[in-house]
Amino acid sequence: SPAIIETEALIIGAGPVGLFQVFELGLLGIKAHVVESLAQPGGQCAELYPNKPIFDIPACPAISGQQLTDNLLQQIEPFKPVFHFSQEVVDLQRQQDGRFLVTTSSEQQFLAAAVIIAAGMGSFQAVKLKVDGAEALEGRQLSYSVRDPERYRGKDIVILGGGDSALDWALTLQPIANSVVVIHRSQKFRAAKASVDKMLKLCDDFEMQFLQGQVSELVEQDGKLTHLKVTGSDGVTRRLELDDLLVFFGLVPDLGPLQSWGLTLHKRQVEVDTEKFQTSIPGIYAVGDINYYPGKKKLILSGFHETALAAFAIKEQLEPGKKVHLQYTTTSPIMHKRLHVE
Ligand code: FAD
Repeated sequence: SPAIIETEALIIGAGPVGLFQVFELGLLGIKAHVVESLAQPGGQCAELYPNKPIFDIPACPAISGQQLTDNLLQQIEPFKPVFHFSQEVVDLQRQQDGRFLVTTSSEQQFLAAAVIIAAGMGSFQAVKLKVDGAEALEGRQLSYSVRDPERYRGKDIVILGGGDSALDWALTLQPIANSVVVIHRSQKFRAAKASVDKMLKLCDDFEMQFLQGQVSELVEQDGKLTHLKVTGSDGVTRRLELDDLLVFFGLVPDLGPLQSWGLTLHKRQVEVDTEKFQTSIPGIYAVGDINYYPGKKKLILSGFHETALAAFAIKEQLEPGKKVHLQYTTTSPIMHKRLHVE
C-alpha cells in the first residue's frame, strides 16, 4: 500500500462545501488533502444537477451546479489542494500524539492534525444489480464504473441502464469493444438527447444493439460469466453471450463508515457546535449538509459560512495560544501572497 501522507488538514468530501473549505484554510496558510469517493469534484451539484441553475448563491444571480463547481476549483487553485478521487474514507483512528490516522478504500493512509468532514449526505455508492451471483462477479466481469476503457478492447460488452453514465460509456466503448449491447427496462432514457440520438443511429447501422428488458439470470460456466438471460418487454427471454457486464443504475448516498467513528450523531447528521463547527471529538470538524446544530439549514450558503469559522478554529488548534486575527482579502499582504495576487 502507498506511503502514509502527513498533512495539517484532511477534508472528507469534494462537494461545494469541501471545496470552499480548502479556500478558507488556504487563506490562513493551511494546506489540505481532499478525499472524494466519486471520480470528480462537485458533490450533489455536479452529480445530481450539473445543468440546473442555483439562484441563492450570494452575488451569483444564477449559476449551474457544474459552473459553481468549476468556479470553486478556480478559486482554490492557488492553494494547490491534493485530491484523492475514487476512494472512500473508511476508517479513522485517533493516535497517541492526538493526530488522526485516516484510511481510504484504496488503502491510502493519512496522518492529519485536523479532519474536516464535508461528506454531504454520505458517500455516493453505485446502485447494485439485484440478480443472484452478481456480488461474486463484482470486480471481475461485472463493474459499476470504468477505470480503463482499454480493458474492454475487442470484448463483447453488455451495458445496463438508461442514464447519462450508461449511454456515455456505451458510446465511448463502442469503437473499442467488439460489440456493445445496451439493456434498459424502458424506451425512456434519462440521458442527454444528443447521446440517445447517437445511440439509436448506431443501432440503426447495426453497430450497437439496444434491448428493452431486464437481466433475469447470470449464467456461469466454470466460475466464468458466459451469458445473460434477458427478459424482454415483449415477454420473450433471450440468451446473450458476453465477456463483460457494466451496470449504471445511478448512485445513492450512504452514510456508511462514518457511523462507526464514535461521533455524536443527530439522526443522520454529525453534531457540531456553532463556534468552531467541531464535532464531539476535538480535532474533527464537520461542515455542510452532513452537520447538525439547532437551526441548521442544508444550504450551500450556510456551508460556506461554516467553513470560515472551522478554518479559524483549526488555525488555533494548530498554533495554540497564538491569536488569529481577522484579515481582509482586499488588503492583507500575507493573504495576497497566499493567493499569488501581489
Ligand atoms: P455534497 O454536495 O453532498 O458533497 C459531499 C461529497 O462528499 C460527495 O461528493 C460524497 O461522495 C463525498 N463523500 C461523502 N462521504 C465520503 C467518504 N466517506 N469518503 C469520501 N468521500 C465522501 N442548495 C442551495 O443552497 N441552493 C439550491 O438551489 C439547491 N438546489 C438543490 C437542488 C437539488 C436537486 C439538490 C439535490 C440539492 C440542492 N441544494 C441546493 C442542496 C445543495 O446541493 C447541498 O446543500 C450541497 O451540495 C451540500 O454540499 P456539501 O459539500 O456539504 O455536500
